Amino acid sequence: VSVSATPLPTDADGGRSAVVMFHDVTAARRHRDELASFAGVVAHDLLNPLTTIDGWTDAAVEELTEAPDGPAVREARASLTRVRRAADRMRHLIDGLLAYTTARDATVQPVDVPLRDLVDDIVAARVDLATAAGTGAPRFTVGDLDPVAADPVLVRQLLDNLVGNAIKYTAPGRTPHVTITTAPAPDGRVVVRIADNGLGIPAGQHHAIFGNFHRAHRDAGITGTGLGLAICQRIVHRHGGTITAADHPGGGSVFTFTLPRAGASPARPRLQTAGR
Ligand code: ADP
Repeated sequence: VSVSATPLPTDADGGRSAVVMFHDVTAARRHRDELASFAGVVAHDLLNPLTTIDGWTDAAVEELTEAPDGPAVREARASLTRVRRAADRMRHLIDGLLAYTTARDATVQPVDVPLRDLVDDIVAARVDLATAAGTGAPRFTVGDLDPVAADPVLVRQLLDNLVGNAIKYTAPGRTPHVTITTAPAPDGRVVVRIADNGLGIPAGQHHAIFGNFHRAHRDAGITGTGLGLAICQRIVHRHGGTITAADHPGGGSVFTFTLPRAGASPARPRLQTAGR
C-alpha cells in the first residue's frame, strides 16, 4: 500500500485536517517485477550474440593488421571500427537494461517456494533440451530439498543459471552429473548446494567469477557472457544471503548459497507449481 497525505488549510476555528490517500499498488508492483525479470532474461540473452560479434571483429582486425596497406584495407578497417562502436553502444544499452532489472526495490516479496518442485521443473526442462539438441542427457541427483522463502521468479533464474553452468562446464564426451541438496544453516536459513563433476574453477578465480563479464574458461570453446553468476550473486544478496564457489572434492565445482527458510511467517502465501 502506498500512502500519501496533504495537509489542508487551518479552518476558521483553528482546526487542522489533512487528506490521506491509500493506494493499493499490488498489481502495479507485480507488473513492474515481471517486466524487470523479463528485461533481465532478455539482456542476458542479447549478450551472447554480442560476444560473438566482438570475437569476430577482433579476429578480422587482427587479420587486417597483417594485410598490405591499401585503400580497400583502410576502408575495411574503418568499417570494423564502426561495427565495434555499434557493439559498444549496444553493450551500454544492455548494461542499462541489467541495471534496471537489479535496481528494483531492495526488498523482495518472498513467498514460500517448494524448492523440490521448482528443481524438478528445471531438471525436466534441461533433459528435454538435451534430448532436442541430440546430446546425451545430464544425470541429476536431487535431495529432499527444504522449502525457502523467496521471490519465485528470481529463485528460478538463480537455480537455472547454476544448473545450466554445471552442465555447460563439462569436459567434452563426459556426462555431466549435477547434485542438488539443501541443509539447515545455523542462522535459521537454508543452505543450497549445487555440485558438478565438470571442469572445475581455475585456481584463484573462485571469487572473481562472480564479477560482471568475468570468464574463467575462455579457451574451452564454451559460449557465454560472464554475466550469469553476477546475476546469481545479486539475486542471493537481495534475499540477504551469500553465495560462494569451491572445488568439489571428487573433481568439478560446488556452488553454495543461502536463502531464508520457508514458513517464517504463517501468513505467507505458498507458490503453486506443477506437481512432480
Ligand atoms: P558464462 O557462463 O556466461 O561465461 P557466468 O557468469 O555464468 O558466465 O560464469 C562465469 C565463469 O565462471 C564462467 O565463464 C566459467 O569460467 C566459470 N564457471 C561458472 N560455473 C561453473 C561451473 N559450474 N564449473 C566450472 N566453471 C564455472
